[in-house]
Amino acid sequence: MLQGLMMDQPLLITSIMQFAERHHGNREIVAVTADNPRHRYTYRAAFARTRRLANALAALGLQPGDRVATLAWNDHRHFELYYAISCSGAVCHTINQRLFPAQIEFIIRHAADRVLFVDPMFVPLVERLGPALAGVAARVVLTDRAHMPAAAAPDWLCYEDLLAEQSADFAWPTLDEQTASALCYTSGTTGEPKGVLFSHRSTVLHSYAVCLPDVMALHESDCIMPLVPMFHVNAWGVPYAAPLVGAKLVLPGPAMADGAQLHDLITTEKVNYALGVPTIWLALLAYLDAHGLQVPTLDRVCVGGAACPASIIERFGADYDVEVFHAWGMTEMSPVGTFNHGTAATDSWPAERRAAHRLRQGRSLFGVDMRIVDAAGAELPWDGTTVGALQVRGPWVARAYYRAPQSCLTADGWFDTGDVANIDPQGFMLITDRSKDVIKSGGEWISSIALENTAVNHPDVAEAAVIGRAHPKWDERPLLVVVPAAGADVSRSDLLDWYQGKVAKWWIPDDVAVVDELPHTATGKIDKKALREQFADYRFPAVRD
Ligand code: AMP
Repeated sequence: MLQGLMMDQPLLITSIMQFAERHHGNREIVAVTADNPRHRYTYRAAFARTRRLANALAALGLQPGDRVATLAWNDHRHFELYYAISCSGAVCHTINQRLFPAQIEFIIRHAADRVLFVDPMFVPLVERLGPALAGVAARVVLTDRAHMPAAAAPDWLCYEDLLAEQSADFAWPTLDEQTASALCYTSGTTGEPKGVLFSHRSTVLHSYAVCLPDVMALHESDCIMPLVPMFHVNAWGVPYAAPLVGAKLVLPGPAMADGAQLHDLITTEKVNYALGVPTIWLALLAYLDAHGLQVPTLDRVCVGGAACPASIIERFGADYDVEVFHAWGMTEMSPVGTFNHGTAATDSWPAERRAAHRLRQGRSLFGVDMRIVDAAGAELPWDGTTVGALQVRGPWVARAYYRAPQSCLTADGWFDTGDVANIDPQGFMLITDRSKDVIKSGGEWISSIALENTAVNHPDVAEAAVIGRAHPKWDERPLLVVVPAAGADVSRSDLLDWYQGKVAKWWIPDDVAVVDELPHTATGKIDKKALREQFADYRFPAVRD
């Protein structure tokens, strides 16, 4: 085989940092923290502090491969930790503080974290963990001396003191590109959380891909605000992609769903691109409506993590001149897998057809291969209606979980996402369900997501979930569970009528239950498992004794 004659340079997160410092040094990072409501500095200043932090990590005795945990919000200190930890050869283990304390304890032990970097807000939580911390050599509060929380025991270190003691010179090691860079546990609604271990190579490739024009389409001139947490799948890769292109980065701190703060950050920092799950957008839209406000600089919004309701796309477009892009991914995929941008073919469609098509989760990005298969593993056609198990493969897809060395792939090397989907002839994928949430009625599948999306488009509904409940004739039938909009009085017959003409007749739920709130997982998604438990004794009206 004739070898190419190109340089053999490893793909390292370090090179994103060094590139941004050299070529985008003056671009800004703005962050909200407990000790400063508007911290502002440049990439140059951020990466100088990152070198001080790398020296501090070395002084704490960290070795290559050690896990360093963060319990932190989206802010500049968390950004510095992302780079200092990974680029010194250690592993940045981001912990979702919304997990149950028992799960946090489990993952700290499982990851054998050596050092914890903790937002002041989570100090009491960590103090309560007690014995789980036996292997932790140091705990650091992410603040300055003046703001050290009273709840912190005397052995807690202060982040700003650690940095002040260190030099801003640090020689970054040249790592193997397969070196582990970050660790994120999936929330595990079934079983224990599982650790997804990203590498420098997978992260750099994913960062390149998300910047592509038919993906996030990121530019130096953009001002990007990730409203997806840096503690959950690396805020969809934005903390790597933004410095890669030199975009200004706005990190909103803890109040990610606070309409007033979001509006203030968007307008004063001139944010033009923001990313988040549907609930964030519903909160922002409600705030803008209630106060008659506009967001003139915002032109693009990316929605993912859960199915995007049509109302978000319509209202952002019609009332705020913001274009909404639907995306799909998962922790095991770093996370981005598909993105919905119009193509030459779909852009020429009539508006109504294209509007419906925007609800699809989109097409694969280069680097993600996807297929749908039946129960026997045979590939299914891309006809836009046939549904099957969605499987993926690619250089930023996990092949095994941390400390569970057996492969998590199918015998022929694909990762089964646990999602059920169809793919249309244009290659646009539509998630119809999680495989464990699909409703099996008379041998046919009903999409709980399609029913939920229709329900939340009803003006009286704030949030909706559909679960399958046992039925003597049909095996399972859908039950719609709704949280009414503030002040609204929802009626069962009105809601069921709402489905007429919008979904197949036999999909229409058999009943409606009204609740004050729905259970959510640690990542803010509706917890269907808990909901099924809540309605374990439920019987449909027609089959009640
Ligand atoms: P996580 O690993 O916690 O980010 O969860 C990933 C899962 O969230 C996926 O497997 C999907 O079930 C769901 N998900 C992510 N994005 C979307 C989307 N745009 N539409 C529907 N479900 C989604």
